[in-house]
Amino acid sequence: MKDLNSILNHQREKFREVFNYSAKELQKRIQEIRPSNVDGDIFSNFSSDSDGRKWQLAVLKMLEDDISKDIYFKFQEILNARKDYHCNSCATCCNLACSEFSPEELKKRAESGDNFAKQFLSVFIPYSSKEEARKVYPEYIALLEKNKENEVYFYHCPKLTEDKRCSDYENRPQICRDFPDNPLTLLPVSCGFCEWKEKSEDMTLLLHAMIEIVEYYKEKIPR
Ligand code: SF4
Ligand code: SF4
Repeated sequence: MKDLNSILNHQREKFREVFNYSAKELQKRIQEIRPSNVDGDIFSNFSSDSDGRKWQLAVLKMLEDDISKDIYFKFQEILNARKDYHCNSCATCCNLACSEFSPEELKKRAESGDNFAKQFLSVFIPYSSKEEARKVYPEYIALLEKNKENEVYFYHCPKLTEDKRCSDYENRPQICRDFPDNPLTLLPVSCGFCEWKEKSEDMTLLLHAMIEIVEYYKEKIPR
């Protein structure tokens, strides 16, 4: 079985690979619809009635109407496929939730209308120390320490009973119902969604890469 660090490194390597491949493929599609009389590239400043400008508008339309919609539908397919898998109540995600935000920061975000922060604070409370959190999932804490870019805060839910049941199951918030909402989430091996993650991960990486590339073009093509 692979350790979490190699899983994460593999994911990053795969992302770089699909990103480079997708960027080249999109570049090809953009070139395919380029009028033969146009000098300059897709980011040039063309006059408003030129063929260069028409090309840019056609590319923007392709990015928005065609590619972005395709990405959206593929994400929906992935989320629909999640319905075939079920939580097996290992309780790891109730016992250990991580956030880049401290409790004070989350409170401020919740007060300014951030729905995720509101839901998060409605269930999770901070661990008294990182060592307490480490007891729940030592490999995960070690991974975060090794790949530390920003401070991470650890939380747990007091509604979890000693026999690993949710004491307020009927009223649990959407973030509990939706977990994991992305196949790129690192899951404990005990999680009932591991197979879904495995099957959907490559496509999700591709979609994430495409989103970044599409955003880059949309930002750089003169509006
Ligand atoms: S509310 Fe229930 S499902 Fe949500 S984190 Fe707490 S124990 Fe888990
Ligand atoms: S980690 Fe997965 S299996 Fe475990 S409680 Fe959370 S969703 Fe359920």
